[in-house]
Amino acid sequence: MISYNEALEIIRIEFNKLNVKTEQIDLLNSVNRVLAEDILSDINLPPFDNSAMDGFAIKFNQNIKEWKITGEIPAGKFNNYILNEESAISIMTGAKLPAGCDTVIPVEDVKIKNDFAYLNEGVRFAKGINTRKQGEDLLKGKLAIPINTLLKPHHIAVAASCGRSMLKVFKRLKIGVLATGDELVDIHETPAGDKIRCSNLYAIISAVRDINMHSVNFGIAKDDKQLIHDRLKWALESELDILITTGGVSFGKFDYVKEVYENLGVETKFWQVKIKPGKPVLFGTYERNDVKTMVFGLPGNPVSSLVNFFLFVQQNIMNLFKLKINNRFTATLEDDLKKEDTKRHFMRGVYSCGNDGKYYVKKMGNQSSGNLAEMGKSNCLIIIEEARMNPRKGETAECIMI
Ligand code: AMP
Ligand code: MG
Repeated sequence: MISYNEALEIIRIEFNKLNVKTEQIDLLNSVNRVLAEDILSDINLPPFDNSAMDGFAIKFNQNIKEWKITGEIPAGKFNNYILNEESAISIMTGAKLPAGCDTVIPVEDVKIKNDFAYLNEGVRFAKGINTRKQGEDLLKGKLAIPINTLLKPHHIAVAASCGRSMLKVFKRLKIGVLATGDELVDIHETPAGDKIRCSNLYAIISAVRDINMHSVNFGIAKDDKQLIHDRLKWALESELDILITTGGVSFGKFDYVKEVYENLGVETKFWQVKIKPGKPVLFGTYERNDVKTMVFGLPGNPVSSLVNFFLFVQQNIMNLFKLKINNRFTATLEDDLKKEDTKRHFMRGVYSCGNDGKYYVKKMGNQSSGNLAEMGKSNCLIIIEEARMNPRKGETAECIMI
């Protein structure tokens, strides 16, 4: 059995062999996609010196505190008034500064009487205030957004101001999902007798969608070797980047997934990892017509399959696209934790931010990998490394937001 870090490294090496393609898409469709080019500014930002406030454009002189108002410049309606130290132009936020103007006095700092603006008592002003210089945000030709950025609305804003209506992004990975199990019924049914609802299919597909990848639903297959064979063959021939199955991958008499994968030509890279939950996880690769597919056999326990998705699939997709991992943090334990084996544990917990600005985490009462409802109440995984035994309240642990 290999360790968690060894498993991650094996997956990382194989993921790097994926042929990630790029495409041009409309700016408005690019949110939550990964940028596949550097975006440079085609103009200076801002394009001209302008006012940062609604106020009065002046030529600064420390000793002059009243000005004759000689004109008005709304935003987008420039008029090149000539300023001297005794005059002021009423100017709006974003309007281009007239020649000679180096300072803007906010409208709320003056009193206006008979076309004169008088600085209010006690107002301090200095040369240059409330002006924005051409190119001070970004100079023409400079890097606005780097490649491998996960595009959020604030990046779209920058791309828009650089005049980019189309962006080159990485194509979304195509990820197939199949659940296996004789006991499974679909969620529209009320399970009777020894049946249960198939939650995994929905959990994994939504986890795929949550990271904005493209999911393909291969449904539920019964624990019948031929049925699983046919369904997996179909999935493997569908030119997927990643295929994920849940269930049927441990030691049960009817756990056929590993055997069928291998019969179909999947090369197993590892099976079983020293982790909890999710020990039986399988990872392999498949190649057909020059298309490489990463194959994951996740265990059927609903907690295990989802935790394994976060740990192996999601984490490696983020690495593949060189995205910053920003869902990890350190928190202080609010309980003693029981851990007496040398596996790496990922316990479900609830984190919160204390009045001291630090993170605290409480573990969920039930850590059974079948206890889905408890996972539904949690918001993080608490990582307890291999060698660490029974961590105590007050100690810290690394956590992953989920
Ligand atoms: P397995 O990995 O197939 O041995 O399944 C382990 C446990 O997970 C069993 O209790 C299954 O009933 C349960 N299980 C398997 N697949 C699913 C699924 N798609 N949705 C919910 N529970 C499942
Ligand atoms: Mg099963």
